[in-house]
Amino acid sequence: MKIAVLRERAAGERRVAATPETVKKFITLGAEMAVETGAGATCSIADDAYRAAGASVGDAGSVRAGADIVLGVQGPDPDALAGIAPGAWIVAALNPFGTGEQGGRARVDRYAALGVEALAMELMPRITRAQSMDILSSQSNLSGYKAVLDAAAEYGRAFPMMMTAAGTVSAARLFVMGVGVAGLQAIATARRLGAQVSATDVRAATKEQIQSLGAKPIFVENVAGIEGEGTGGYATEMSDEYKAAQAELVSAHIAKQDIVITTALIPGRPAPRLISAAQVASMKPGSVIVDLAVEAGGNVEGAVAGEVVEVGGVKIVGHRNVPSRLAADASALFSRNLFNFLSAFWDKDSGRPVLDEEIGDAIRLTKGGQVVHARLLGA
Ligand code: NAD
Repeated sequence: MKIAVLRERAAGERRVAATPETVKKFITLGAEMAVETGAGATCSIADDAYRAAGASVGDAGSVRAGADIVLGVQGPDPDALAGIAPGAWIVAALNPFGTGEQGGRARVDRYAALGVEALAMELMPRITRAQSMDILSSQSNLSGYKAVLDAAAEYGRAFPMMMTAAGTVSAARLFVMGVGVAGLQAIATARRLGAQVSATDVRAATKEQIQSLGAKPIFVENVAGIEGEGTGGYATEMSDEYKAAQAELVSAHIAKQDIVITTALIPGRPAPRLISAAQVASMKPGSVIVDLAVEAGGNVEGAVAGEVVEVGGVKIVGHRNVPSRLAADASALFSRNLFNFLSAFWDKDSGRPVLDEEIGDAIRLTKGGQVVHARLLGA
């Protein structure tokens, strides 16, 4: 069983899909590990560290030759997989419902044509036993943290209240919209930096979580649809009545904020629009908004993916691929997610992983030359 780790080739991608720690663990399971030269360079892992962990390090051609499993952060270009074993597994975030070069249905079809088994890690079901395999959670947690630091870096003032001989600096008011994994970490990080934090979500269950982190919940009350929770803890789309009430409440609140961090996503749909241009205009000059959903269409009107734009003195931060901005930790957690996944299904007799139906059906996009995922087949 040969496992290949290729250098990520997508623009701006600094993470790597295996670290020396996970290389060692895979070898303990009986796998042979091959890592492409320079694969860890963008997150401070030297080739020698992989060698010391027991991997062979070489060029892409030798690494993929005969590989039974190819690990990736983002899915490798199907054209870059020549020489892998027939029916090999591709294990990465494959973005099958996305558009653009790094994903989408067209790429899934090309994986099928290659005869590989493409496993999309971001489709891992949200069940207790798969928590340690969940790349969305591990990466969102880091994004939430980094969003606060990115806001602090753009903000021309301090976060904590400071009483100094020269007078008092008041605490920054920071509002988090969308309290999932990223939002909770953003609240905790902003609190640690001394900001006065408030937060909102459509899922009523988050109210208590916000309070337990010492932040103030801002919630629409007495409007149908407050539960807002769909399968797997994800948000559902809200009623028009709820959306209108939320917009009104948020408008009044936003105008008083110094920093807003938005993280709201709805799986399989464009991100909900939470902040309009008029609401941006209501904020004081010098305020900062970080839109963590910018790549999914954006929560903030005027946010531009990959840019920090300034509108009427308000900065709107739209960094792409935020986990990659903390590449070392993001890689360490992502790599462990991949190891936890493959090792949980490792079959000692055959010396390779064998998936069960629940997880296999949820994440397998292609097999035996066909696209097999129910959602891609329109089921
Ligand atoms: P997400 O990234 O899909 O969305 C971020 C947040 O935005 C969510 O809290 C969502 O409710 C919120 N949101 C959506 N529309 C909104 C709107 N119009 N206004 C305000 N907020 C809006 O969510 P996530 O971070 O993946 O987490 C969602 C939930 O799933 C959490 O409760 C999390 O703890 C849970 N979870 C469970 C597992 C597991 O059991 N294995 C794994 C990961 C997350």
